[in-house]
Amino acid sequence: MDAIPPMSRRSALALAGAATGSLAVAAPDSPGHADLVLHSGVVWTGEHGNGTAQAVAVKGARIVAVGSDRRVLRWAGPRTRRIDLRGAFVAPGFRDQHTHLIQTAVGGAGAQAYRPVFTPYDEREAFEARRRNGQRHVEIHARGETPVDRGAHSPVTEKLKNDLLVMQEEVAKQGVSTVVEAGLRDLGALDALFQLAEEGRLKVRFLVRVAWGCIEEAARMGLRTGVGNEWVKVLGVKLYSDGWLGPRTAALRKPYSDDPYGFPRGGILFLDQERADRDVARARELGFNVTTHAIGDRGVRVALTAYERNGVSPRDRWALEHVQVAEDDLIERMIRRGVIASIQFSFATTDQRFAERALGRHRLRHAYRWRDMLRARVPMVGGSDFANEVLDPLWGLQRVVTRTEFDGTPPGGWLPDQRLDVPTALRLITSRAAFASLEEHERGTIEPGKYADLVVLRENPLTVAPDRIAGATRLMTITNGRIVAEGAVRYPPLAP
Ligand SMILES: [Zn+2]
Repeated sequence: MDAIPPMSRRSALALAGAATGSLAVAAPDSPGHADLVLHSGVVWTGEHGNGTAQAVAVKGARIVAVGSDRRVLRWAGPRTRRIDLRGAFVAPGFRDQHTHLIQTAVGGAGAQAYRPVFTPYDEREAFEARRRNGQRHVEIHARGETPVDRGAHSPVTEKLKNDLLVMQEEVAKQGVSTVVEAGLRDLGALDALFQLAEEGRLKVRFLVRVAWGCIEEAARMGLRTGVGNEWVKVLGVKLYSDGWLGPRTAALRKPYSDDPYGFPRGGILFLDQERADRDVARARELGFNVTTHAIGDRGVRVALTAYERNGVSPRDRWALEHVQVAEDDLIERMIRRGVIASIQFSFATTDQRFAERALGRHRLRHAYRWRDMLRARVPMVGGSDFANEVLDPLWGLQRVVTRTEFDGTPPGGWLPDQRLDVPTALRLITSRAAFASLEEHERGTIEPGKYADLVVLRENPLTVAPDRIAGATRLMTITNGRIVAEGAVRYPPLAP
């Protein structure tokens, strides 16, 4: 090889100097100008600290710099959009690890269905709804099925695509960058989302767990965990082990403490152990990450045993949805195998109305014990379970940190020892959610090199009064570096 002439060597060194400097100090006028710089704010970066940066720069789909205004503003060039945050708060874009958004759109719901509305509790209405749901569980069980056994593959229509777009508009406004669909029953909707992604029309990222009833066809289509793109990706499959606590159909080791509906006293187990073992084995064989709806301790035990018999390890990131009743032995088994507890923030206030009657005071110590689980280092992640609860992550955040309903009940909070603090709860819907979706190297915190999924709030949830979190103002949502929602939006739960 020829020796490098002196002049060239100097320029090579100069270039190397620019390239090896900190990401935040590229020379002005370099081709490295950011497309977008957010400055003069409070940037909560996620996993490694609480609000230490002032500014963030984005180029293409990714974050290129995070730090002080002085350092990050050097990334601004003549064509860079600069946004003065005026002290606003920036967090990693919210993620919701358990929703039924796509399925709701498949049902043809309009925009109104996705807007959070607080309805005061009506015991008579709630009683009837639980009875109907329980009856449905009894009938499904009598057919020897689980609630996710039936799949469909509808043709893609313009109406379906439009209904999905109406849905994502509302989701993006609420500061949510990524949603996980917990059990999609119609693969046609997945086709529609892939088309919308190709047409460049998506604003929200969709990670899809197919329902058990769709897994064989999904596999024939070439789908498995990780297949997809930046906007739509297959995350895995959802199984269903038991019913719900409200209708007394969640499967418990010991009978319910009450019997308001006349259903089987130990709840309903959709998966016996043999089928659970077999379904989990098949999911692994087809390459699908597994999560299982498991609310009662007996439902949790069956799912966990099936995971263990199929060699689950922390590398798999398999999860259990809900995990509402869990004694120490089950929690220890989850920790040992790295099984993730996927919890729903709003259940911390909703379920106060029936959990004690259903379980009895003694057993309540093993219920909704989210702080215990965090302290014991169970891997955890947060979600909403939309449409059973509202999607809005700030509503969930307020409920999980106060454990008090918006109408103030109960004063002091329900099982207040199990309250989460704000940074912890935020991590469950940002960095920990990215981890649970095998995306922690690419997303979930605000760091150079990661995808730019960001939410801007006028108020800082780390410092605002906890009972004001739900009414905080969303100013902007950025997903994959694109501004997908802009303008002040707030959803105060109670009319002022
Ligand atoms: Zn659900």
